[in-house]
Amino acid sequence: MINLHISTSSSENTTDIYDVIIVGSGPAGMTAAIYTGRSLLKTLLLEKIGSGGQAALTELIENYPGFPHGINGYELSQRMEEQAKNFGASFEYADVQKITRDDQGLFHVHTESREFLSKTVIIATGASPKKLGIPNEEKFIGRGISFCATCDASFYRDKVVAVIGGGDSAVEEGMYLTKFAKKVYLIHRRDQLRAAKIVQERAFKTPGMEFIWNTIVEEVKGENFLEAIKLKNVKTGETSWLEVNGMFLYIGLYPNTSFLEGVNCDEQGYILTDEMMRTNIPGLFAAGDCRHTPLRQVITAASDGAIAAYAVEKYLEEIKG
Ligand code: NAP
Repeated sequence: MINLHISTSSSENTTDIYDVIIVGSGPAGMTAAIYTGRSLLKTLLLEKIGSGGQAALTELIENYPGFPHGINGYELSQRMEEQAKNFGASFEYADVQKITRDDQGLFHVHTESREFLSKTVIIATGASPKKLGIPNEEKFIGRGISFCATCDASFYRDKVVAVIGGGDSAVEEGMYLTKFAKKVYLIHRRDQLRAAKIVQERAFKTPGMEFIWNTIVEEVKGENFLEAIKLKNVKTGETSWLEVNGMFLYIGLYPNTSFLEGVNCDEQGYILTDEMMRTNIPGLFAAGDCRHTPLRQVITAASDGAIAAYAVEKYLEEIKG
């Protein structure tokens, strides 16, 4: 909740006040931390689980400049974190539950255990994988249903897996899974992939990968672990059960912005900003996948983070002046 009229006494201790708190340590948050740290701003980065966000779960990032043979997402994230720390940014693990703003314009970032104070905040909380919302899905998450091939592929050595979705993630991670599984079915609800053409071409030539078109998953079943998924051809209405040991879901993302109140978002919950990454709340900025943006890539997230950091600096100069 961004409440312009809440005031607390703790804001009087200026040594505890950060110039900027960055929420989320994906490429957007870490780039912002590199820039604000390098500008000698007192920077705190708060992260719920581990650094890197979605990028850290990507086996190979091929289109981030400077790595002609690609780079593993986890490694790239670790390098960004080291770079931000080298410039003096502090990192803490904490789940941010709400953000308020007091009558002196200071932000109070409330986590499950304590409250942090800052003159500005950058929201860089990214986006999380969507679920199908079908019967028994929850029961098999972690027992055959996964959202991360990089993390779980090795469990499916010589097994049969299904990958759901037709975007870059589904196709790239599907290809990666063929290194482990003996068979990878890529199941897409249309007859054309959304993934980049170069990725599609490579996928069509990948041995061990079979495409099932115009098909959705309606149900899943098994004893303790996933054993089969019920498919429905959306053109013919025909249904059938496919035996699989695992199912990887890559059906898109939703923004991690539900903890915010009073911040203008689009109808899907992505934060609206101007070109300086400013939200409708003065001193509150947003960067990366949680923002309404035409492209969600590591490079665009990093770019957003750099611009947000620059805007923070300008804002701090203005309020000081
Ligand atoms: P995405 O591009 O939104 O694709 C989601 C896919 O899931 C689409 O093919 C969509 O079908 C399908 N889908 C959505 N809801 C579904 C449902 N309920 N049942 C079945 N299928 C469903 O998501 P993403 O692949 O995770 O990518 C997210 C963003 O990251 C994109 O901007 C992508 O370009 C980017 N990314 C880039 C790279 C890279 O450049 N190397 C790698 C990974 C991701 P329709 O096509 O019919 O809508």
